[in-house]
Amino acid sequence: MLRLPTFRYLQPRTLTEALRMKGDAGPEGMFVAGGTDLYPNMKRRHQEPKTVISLMAIPELQRVDGWNVGTCVTLSTLSNIPTFQHSAFATAARLVSTPLLRNMGTLGGNLCLDTRCNYYNQGYEWRKSIDFCMKKDGKICWVAPSSPRCWAVSSSDVAPVMVAIGAEYRLVGPQGERVVPAARFYHNDGINYLTKQPDEILVDVRLPAPNGWDAVYHKLRRRGSFDFPVLGVAAWIQWNGKNVADARIVLGGVASYPQEISEAKAALGGRPLSDESIAAAAEAAYRPSKPMDNTDFDLSWRKQMTRVYVTRAIEELRTRRR
Ligand SMILES: Cc1cc2nc3c(=O)[nH]c(=O)nc-3n(C[C@H](O)[C@H](O)[C@H](O)COP(=O)(O)OP(=O)(O)OC[C@H]3O[C@@H](n4cnc5c(N)ncnc54)[C@H](O)[C@@H]3O)c2cc1C
Ligand code: SF4
Repeated sequence: MLRLPTFRYLQPRTLTEALRMKGDAGPEGMFVAGGTDLYPNMKRRHQEPKTVISLMAIPELQRVDGWNVGTCVTLSTLSNIPTFQHSAFATAARLVSTPLLRNMGTLGGNLCLDTRCNYYNQGYEWRKSIDFCMKKDGKICWVAPSSPRCWAVSSSDVAPVMVAIGAEYRLVGPQGERVVPAARFYHNDGINYLTKQPDEILVDVRLPAPNGWDAVYHKLRRRGSFDFPVLGVAAWIQWNGKNVADARIVLGGVASYPQEISEAKAALGGRPLSDESIAAAAEAAYRPSKPMDNTDFDLSWRKQMTRVYVTRAIEELRTRRR
């Protein structure tokens, strides 16, 4: 059985108190929300904080105020808010793992989720037996041994949707407050996968109000009731009547960040959705989609599935517009 190491647990009531506690704990302190990612990781010694600072008792982080959602709102709550029920982010939240984990897991934890890899998401003894890897305790990347970087995979279901719809994240830290577009919150690097500093708290997510846009999320995984995505497709369209005014496609599960397909607008924009434009967008997503051999399923099949899932996602948007 994997056991948690000993640690100090703190429960601040305000953001100021949480920041002070983190300052006092230094690099050995970490924030936790639902703990569904951090605690299993601590059991496997991926993260080894001596002080764990829970954010769950801070009322500001539990607040839902119109289109601003506090980051300690659980995934279950998020997906059941009537205004959001048919939104792509509620769909993505509903597709995370199991009801138990969605009742504990939060929006913020999902958006900050650690990247994943078959050589990393293992117990300490397993990882020791291969002399660890670059992401924790080792020197080499077993997926790409000559690579100077880690290719662990961004496996959040909700993050690709937030990038696709152009959400903004509000952060507070010792230096004050800042708001960043979701796309700028992520790095394509399996180790430094967030631009957030360790002492910053993700406070809330500012969702764009509906003004003629629509978005969907489709997820590929082995077990439909449980698993992490091995491919996630978030597709967003800004409509101008029947024409596509703007479009974004963002892939999850194929890179260390939610990967935006730069040619989506060129493929789809300026005209109604047709079979030809959908095929062009699916092709545009297929080319840069380069899954590595470090999650479930064969990587060439996962690449093929990019085309299929992007097609299905945009077809759903077309059907909804009719
Ligand atoms: C068996 C299993 C299956 C899973 N399947 C999926 C899946 O299909 N899809 C998916 O997306 N996820 C999945 N998860 C991962 C996880 O359950 C969810 O992503 C969940 O939303 C994480 O939220 P949390 O509040 O529990 O995060 P925590 O574990 O509390 O935190 C995760 C990380 O985020 C940081 N953090 C959390 N909140 C904040 C904040 N407000 N500000 C700054 N830092 C913060 C923590 O320090 C930590 O580094 C799965 C987990 C398990 C164990
Ligand atoms: S991609 Fe390489 S360095 Fe990163 S977790 Fe996997 S094996 Fe380790």
